[in-house]
Amino acid sequence: MNKEHILNRFISYVTVDTESDPNNPAFPSTEKQWNLAKQLEKELNEIGLSDVELDENCYIMATLPSNIDYKVPTIGFVAHIDTSPDFTGKDVKPQVHENYDGKDILLNKEQNIVLSPDYFDDLLQYKGQTIITTDGTTLLGADDKAGVTEIVSAMEYLIQHPEIKHGKIRICFTPDEEVGKGAHLFDVEKFGAEWAYTMDGSQIGELEYENFNAAGAIVTINGKIVHPGYAKGKMINSMLITNEFIAMLPENEVPEKTSGYEGFFHLHDMEGKVEQTTLQYIIRDHDLDLFEKRKELMQTIANQLNNKLGTDLIEVKIKDQYFNMKEKVVPVMHIVDIVEDVMKEMNIEPLIKPIRGGTDGSQLSYKGLPCPNIFAGGHNFHGRYEYVPLESIIKATEVIVGIAQKVAVNFS
Ligand SMILES: [Zn+2]
Repeated sequence: MNKEHILNRFISYVTVDTESDPNNPAFPSTEKQWNLAKQLEKELNEIGLSDVELDENCYIMATLPSNIDYKVPTIGFVAHIDTSPDFTGKDVKPQVHENYDGKDILLNKEQNIVLSPDYFDDLLQYKGQTIITTDGTTLLGADDKAGVTEIVSAMEYLIQHPEIKHGKIRICFTPDEEVGKGAHLFDVEKFGAEWAYTMDGSQIGELEYENFNAAGAIVTINGKIVHPGYAKGKMINSMLITNEFIAMLPENEVPEKTSGYEGFFHLHDMEGKVEQTTLQYIIRDHDLDLFEKRKELMQTIANQLNNKLGTDLIEVKIKDQYFNMKEKVVPVMHIVDIVEDVMKEMNIEPLIKPIRGGTDGSQLSYKGLPCPNIFAGGHNFHGRYEYVPLESIIKATEVIVGIAQKVAVNFS
């Protein structure tokens, strides 16, 4: 793998602003995502991929044809081109720090912005490597342009090394993943892969096939406003009832007190007046039974309070958002085992852990394309401290090549 070439490719992607917009229902949510999409369309043709197609919704698909004379499953690799609206992605000025010495990295002298291993201790595992950072004023966009870089570089490598045998490979780059819509208009049938991988995880070794089951709840609590001087026996203060509602939920089952497989209720928005208070929750659990029980508990608490008050003042509306991809991946567990084997052969320790969130892969899995997630290499996503070691990008590229190769061997 040519380090310089891969670095330049990554920089050519992160310097194109592709921030998505959660408030725009259009697809893609920002016009500027087309800029990178068109750049990629051109590049994929240049490196020699087939069926390169940029569709009307800003999805780019392409094919690397099989170079073997027997049939093996078609597999796919997926990454997203947009960056998070949590932090600006305009005018990204990537800084390349070669042979990292394990000390503080000064991102921005004028503003005294420092990326320090005292706070971000993950940095220390990359001593001696080439660290790519921001200049402290933007995010980097390694999420997920590292993933895009790895997929393009792996396809290029396989084209240049025909001695490496592989079946048919499909790749896709999606818009709007960061606003939860990356899988929405993904044409799984046209993609035509038996399974795929998103290259969208964080540190080297990450391999994920479990994510939360997710729902959103809106709780509306009604009250009655009366002049406070004459309110005795008449006023109902919705905010005080809200207090009771919140207190009846398990106080330790919140994001700030849970980790691993522990689920939670997260109150993320609250608006109140005497007459009416609205609460917005997200409900999360990896376990489907516990997830259903969480939803029931909210309803039960509302019923209990309504009974106590003698009138239906509290209404709970719950909507499912996405489900744990585990249900779809476990029946085809060999698609995870292959990656684990490839990593071990490369001396990368597989870090298999449940995602405390969702991925495009979970939605794709429910659309019929089982889709675990593999590390793309970056850290501290969605902010100014985002960084990625070049060596991790190269390792992830090699993992893709290794998977292509192993599928051809395992199914021969
Ligand atoms: Zn991502």
